Amino acid sequence: MTGAAGITAPAAANAIRHVLVVGGGTAGWLTACHLAKKLGAGRPDGVKVTLIESPDIPTIGVGEGTVPAIRRTLADLGIRETDFIRACDVTFKQSIRFDGWVDGTADDRYHHIFDYPAVGEVDLTPYWLLGEAGNVPFADAVSVQAAICERGLGPKTMAHAEYDGAASYAYHLDAAKFAAFLTRHATEKLGVTHLLGHVGDVRVADDGHISAVATDRHGTIEADLFVDCTGFAARLVGQALKVPFIPRNDILFCDHAVAAQVPYANADAPIASSTIATARDAGWIWDIGLTGRRGTGYVYAEKYTSHEDAEATLRDYLRPTVGAVADEVACRRIPMRVGYREKFWVGNCVAIGLAQGFVEPLEATGLLVYDATARMLADQFPPSKQAINTVAERFNARVRHAWDKVIDFIKLHYCLSQRSDTQFWRDNRDAAGIPDSLRANLELWAHQPPRDYDFPSRFEIFNLENYLYVLYGMRFETSMAPIRYRYGAQDTARAMFAHLRQATEQACSQLLPNRALIDRIQRHGLQRV
Ligand SMILES: Cc1cc2nc3c(=O)[nH]c(=O)nc-3n(C[C@H](O)[C@H](O)[C@H](O)COP(=O)(O)OP(=O)(O)OC[C@H]3O[C@@H](n4cnc5c(N)ncnc54)[C@H](O)[C@@H]3O)c2cc1C
Repeated sequence: MTGAAGITAPAAANAIRHVLVVGGGTAGWLTACHLAKKLGAGRPDGVKVTLIESPDIPTIGVGEGTVPAIRRTLADLGIRETDFIRACDVTFKQSIRFDGWVDGTADDRYHHIFDYPAVGEVDLTPYWLLGEAGNVPFADAVSVQAAICERGLGPKTMAHAEYDGAASYAYHLDAAKFAAFLTRHATEKLGVTHLLGHVGDVRVADDGHISAVATDRHGTIEADLFVDCTGFAARLVGQALKVPFIPRNDILFCDHAVAAQVPYANADAPIASSTIATARDAGWIWDIGLTGRRGTGYVYAEKYTSHEDAEATLRDYLRPTVGAVADEVACRRIPMRVGYREKFWVGNCVAIGLAQGFVEPLEATGLLVYDATARMLADQFPPSKQAINTVAERFNARVRHAWDKVIDFIKLHYCLSQRSDTQFWRDNRDAAGIPDSLRANLELWAHQPPRDYDFPSRFEIFNLENYLYVLYGMRFETSMAPIRYRYGAQDTARAMFAHLRQATEQACSQLLPNRALIDRIQRHGLQRV
């Protein structure tokens, strides 16, 4: 039927009735959950969602840090925060603490916290830059959260409802347990069909669309839309459809990680409220505290260190806290492919997860981007096969923008460093490796503080507040003298800084240490939303 302006209504034959997600890592299960929830997978009139994963290929098994957006996802998917905390060895994360990134001296550390800078009568950033808060670090001056993190406290009390807190927060979690938890939720509550089987042959029709995949245990499976969540293998989008991969290791040099899980010194040891990211000669070490163990790893650039030295660097880092365990613990080397696909949606195949793209896990961008794109796919799900091309074109533009912005933001941490002790750090400051978009912003921000006008897209992954914490944590200099005349509300700003100092003490006095809070939630549960 043709309506106004010659627009044709979709025929039933063009409806998208079945989506096959290939891959059962966190990306696959998050995608299946978003699609199933949005498209009514369990209902007779809904879209069928099937997930197939190979029993022979393990998931990557790392990915323990998240960002606050995950709370919205879990709530939207109908997951109880208490269940999630109990099932996935979850602890609360309120910042990334960067140790040794500015100049490598003993007291070199700052927090990228999750709370927004306090909002009041005036924007505090220019007044902090003008010295109205004294020598207090930026994050401590504009928010109560840096102090909460430094004292190892949780972000909420038992009186807060699920997903609500005194301060914004994310989680540290066990990646394997999280995938298993999502599996149960997707299959038991959201109507996702789960198959164990290996996808071999991928049948591609003349129009470039995938018609079916051949599996070892379930014969040939047809679907209208395929989602490639097969990890770095990129079985559909890379191997079958040959979509080129655009490397970005000219900007971000780290291309390997060596990971180790270590026990706490004792069962009651404090759990840090931050991911600790410690700079080293050829990269940085992550340190994430879960309930029963720490997950650690050295992310490094092979061009600047050997695998043996990288492993030794990780063991050296661990020795002061775990003693002899540092020399005995198993270390696992993980190659990392840095960059993204030229396109993320081609024909009827969408890539999400490591198959889509990846950059080093400095700001926990993996789950963040995959979750955001899975949500986008579900929200923008094409009403018919006819609409696929238009939706795909927009999807590709937005996801490309997201990755480029993620790369800008990660590079920011490196290119502002004053470290010059190794070639890795010196090369990171080389202008040739700094994307034009980031360089243009830095040139502007050298003369005025960043403003929200600098972040015009509604789909920005990192926004003004993220940049403020990293820029001024890294001691970036904005020359305020020429524009000082614009900021005449010193008294108001000083009063706001003083108020925040008081509020910090008050907030801290009401919060439990991270471990004590988690223990209580494990035992008693949180109030329902
Ligand atoms: C060192 C490192 C640290 C990281 N840290 C973080 C972090 O702190 N925070 C964060 O958000 N992210 C992090 N990430 C990213 C994180 O690992 C990913 O977000 C997450 O694990 C998603 O992976 P995935 O599901 O795409 O792939 P995988 O976990 O690799 O899963 C791939 C799935 O595809 C299946 N599969 C493969 N081939 C086939 C086939 N032919 N047929 C059927 N099934 C197939 C496998 O069986 C598996 O189920 C990190 C990544 C690395 C490398």
